[in-house]
Amino acid sequence: MTDYPHLLKPLDLGHVTLPNRVLMGSMHTNLEETGDWDRVAAFYARRAAGGVGLMVTGGMAPNREGGVFPGASGLFGAADIANHRSVTERIHAEGGRIAMQILHAGRYAYGKDCVSASAVKSPISPFVPRALDAAGIEKQIADIATAAARAREAGYDGVEVMGSEGYFLNQFLVTHVNKREDEWGGSYENRMRLPVEVVRRVRQAVGADFIVIYRISLIDLVPEGQSWAEVLQLARAIEAAGASILNTGIGWHEARVPTIATSVPRRAFAWVTKKLMGEVSIPIVTSNRINTPEVAEAVLAEGCADMVSMARPFLADPDFVAKAAAGQRARIAPCIACNQACLDHTFQGRTATCLVNPQACFETELLLEPAPQARRIAVVGAGPAGLSAAITAARRGHRVTLFERESEIGGQLNMARVIPGKEEFNGLVDWFRTMLDETGVEQQLGRAAGVQELGGFDEVVLATGVRPRDPGIAGQDGGNVLSYVDVLKHGAEVGPRVAVIGAGGIGFDVAEFLTETGHPTEDLAAWLAEWGVADPEQAPGGLAPEGPRPSAPARQVTLLQRKPGKPGRGLGKTTGWIHRATLAAKGVKMMGGVTYRRIGPEGLHLGIGTKPDATELLAVDTVVLCAGQEPERGLAEALEAAGIGHHLIGGAERAAELDARRAIDQGVRLAARL
Ligand code: NAP
Ligand code: SF4
Repeated sequence: MTDYPHLLKPLDLGHVTLPNRVLMGSMHTNLEETGDWDRVAAFYARRAAGGVGLMVTGGMAPNREGGVFPGASGLFGAADIANHRSVTERIHAEGGRIAMQILHAGRYAYGKDCVSASAVKSPISPFVPRALDAAGIEKQIADIATAAARAREAGYDGVEVMGSEGYFLNQFLVTHVNKREDEWGGSYENRMRLPVEVVRRVRQAVGADFIVIYRISLIDLVPEGQSWAEVLQLARAIEAAGASILNTGIGWHEARVPTIATSVPRRAFAWVTKKLMGEVSIPIVTSNRINTPEVAEAVLAEGCADMVSMARPFLADPDFVAKAAAGQRARIAPCIACNQACLDHTFQGRTATCLVNPQACFETELLLEPAPQARRIAVVGAGPAGLSAAITAARRGHRVTLFERESEIGGQLNMARVIPGKEEFNGLVDWFRTMLDETGVEQQLGRAAGVQELGGFDEVVLATGVRPRDPGIAGQDGGNVLSYVDVLKHGAEVGPRVAVIGAGGIGFDVAEFLTETGHPTEDLAAWLAEWGVADPEQAPGGLAPEGPRPSAPARQVTLLQRKPGKPGRGLGKTTGWIHRATLAAKGVKMMGGVTYRRIGPEGLHLGIGTKPDATELLAVDTVVLCAGQEPERGLAEALEAAGIGHHLIGGAERAAELDARRAIDQGVRLAARL
């Protein structure tokens, strides 16, 4: 008997039966753009082997003007079809199924040739789209239908027509982008004509025995979004036009509501999908912040959807479904929804991968072969770098001993996980613990290794981490000055008015920790109110008319940096705006271009901006130092003196720009070579 009867129940689509209710949602990884189709095939085949019911590819452009960026992948000719066929063949050989997503970006296409319903620029793009004429619209429909026919020719099991997230088809549906007065604009009947006609023509192009998924925007989360009555009208028309499955999209890309970041509560939008249940007779898929089999099972058991879409969890662990089915849930590497190695990479034009699993998208390059000879390896430090190195080396057959001076594993992760909105780090530490046990790593916790202990090993890996940088500010030894370690690790008492020195990742974290009163990530109603999300049945687009209603800040915080300009520039590409907005909502004052003169009992004395001689007092009760970190290399120096060779990884190797992504990547890659 499985713990996940709803999740693992087959889904009969008529001409085909999917083995379970899990859809791997579309992700743009930039893999196709490498031109290495063996690598693309390896990525998807690995996930097919892990038992997912149906996969959807990253978005493929139906034509040049619809590509997300110039040169975006698509199915334009015979060579493309052959490349895609090499992928589908590998997936079918693994017993998997895959649909190709057809993504027309409309005004989100990053180029001057972009097109849309009307010439209305998006707030997140510099390009004004060209308003299509009737012939132009017909061309787009024909191109999308042709792409679907080519997908079938390339061996796909279906297509997904992207109609949500504010892309081309979604743009026609709302009056603030669609200003047309012809048959494609005006009434909702007219505005929805394009997506409905697209689905009808796609079905015509591919025949009856082919999966056609339509991704519908259920809650636009932008002003003047669709009403719920309109969404229902569209859903029914899409079903009538021939779709086999309705996948759901939450929020436009330009929405100012986070929808997938780690601070979004799990299954935060399943209630919206539930409203659609019973309104159409084709299967409905729910998505967004579903990252464990328990959450997925609950969503299905509660009747929120017929199927669950997860995307990033399959970067973290391709065997998610197989492990859930085998009763090995604790072994599933968790997606912590950080975006640090997936979406942040994609938006920087880099190949996506995963913070937790550096093998993701590097299946052909980062191989973990059994070690030719088992060796005795010591790893010092049980932070993310050391844990990854230890587990990976042990998996390869080495005999590994892990030394950690603290009584528990986790290192810096233990500070991250107390931050409101970063609770997912708990799951990551739990997973490391499971994997240490499973791979048989000998754990010496509460033991600081020295030269004596390390002398007898074949290899020594130092992952001793970092220590806080000493900013050397006069008065920093006063009783009103704390370091972030005191606050996050030791729970030191902090006064009502606080200055945070340093506005890097940790300064932002500390400011969130000090202003938040609870854990809104664990209270969906509070979180929805905080971001101004309402029931779309009451408020079109799902935006509350009264706007966001953040709870009162627990403290009055000022966040400071010496660099001129606004703090927060170095935060994650796709998540930095969320941190800035969260702190702004809590009334946190951010100041750049300051000079720290001294700290006294009355507060922090600052030089501000271009007035080098003037000093102002920031009257605060507590000053928290978050001035960056430096490598902890004491042991490395001792080993060098004793002539014991070692490998340095993580923060001990380089503290600047350290994050768990680099630490884990270094740990795994080193252990792959040992
Ligand atoms: P950081 O990002 O390098 O920021 C250090 C901050 O301290 C900067 O604002 C810097 O600004 C200031 N600073 C540097 N030297 C100083 C000095 N001598 N005196 C006073 N201020 C000084 O380091 P961090 O905040 O410690 O974060 C460490 C790493 O953890 C980061 O690289 C980050 O990637 C990672 N992390 C990431 C997240 C995330 O959200 N992704 C969260 C937490 C941590 P000025 O030099 O302009 O004053
Ligand atoms: Fe999930 Fe972070 Fe990995 Fe992306 S990088 S898949 S968000 S854990």
